[in-house]
Amino acid sequence: MKQENVIESKGLTKMFGDFTAVDKITFEVKKGEIFGFLGANGAGKTTAMKMLIGISIPTSGEAKVAGYNVFTHAEDIKKNIGYMSQKFALYDDLTVRENITFFGGIYGLKRSEIKIKSEQLINELGLQDVAKDLVGSLPLGWKQKIAFSVALLHEPKIIFLDEPTGGVDPITRRQFWEMIYKTAHNGTTVFVTTHYMDEAEYCDRVSIMVNGKIEALDTPTKLKEQFQVDTMNDVFLKLARG
Ligand code: ATP
Repeated sequence: MKQENVIESKGLTKMFGDFTAVDKITFEVKKGEIFGFLGANGAGKTTAMKMLIGISIPTSGEAKVAGYNVFTHAEDIKKNIGYMSQKFALYDDLTVRENITFFGGIYGLKRSEIKIKSEQLINELGLQDVAKDLVGSLPLGWKQKIAFSVALLHEPKIIFLDEPTGGVDPITRRQFWEMIYKTAHNGTTVFVTTHYMDEAEYCDRVSIMVNGKIEALDTPTKLKEQFQVDTMNDVFLKLARG
């Protein structure tokens, strides 16, 4: 059975004046796949992701995300995806429970649903003792794990993670990736950017962007074979750093 594509991009391009930040990128991402979106600083990852989440209009090309066209149905895309980054996560001056309630409301959940989901989230993450604490008082790793769960409250088809584990310790990163596996296993697609090459190894498939173009796209095993190296770090160095 052919698996459903939740992202389809064909020749997607973004220009800023004469400068091409994203240059005709073509790729597909399947339901439940963990898709790593790699590239050196300035390669065009954030610009590409902004087009895919419906907040930046492409200059040309085509893309469908969660079945919706990025040109004509950006609002529907926003309702069907989750997003978190290192910079955009939770409100530090709200408690854990208040953050869940607040974002649940933004995502259009009913009061009764928010109540049930808050309890689930707090129990699953073992947050009973800190539910009334301000998020700002928690360690970064905890914040990121909560932010990830909050971005899944409305059961989106895809979650976009922009460097979600930046600055987080290795043990917490490992726990974060266990949450990613579980999410993908439940059928939610995970689209993740990272600068950690051990994390690239955990993805089902990885694309590597260089100067706005996707220069490689395959499973970590096949990419290592293709570039005749032993690690994704070496693949990245060969490609992204020339
Ligand atoms: P990083 O890993 O540092 O986040 P990135 O791969 O996400 O990098 P982008 O932020 O997408 O890269 O930037 C790609 C290129 O587009 C860069 O050269 C950047 O300066 C340029 N760029 C991004 N946004 C704009 C803008 N609004 N106007 C002009 N140029 C821009």
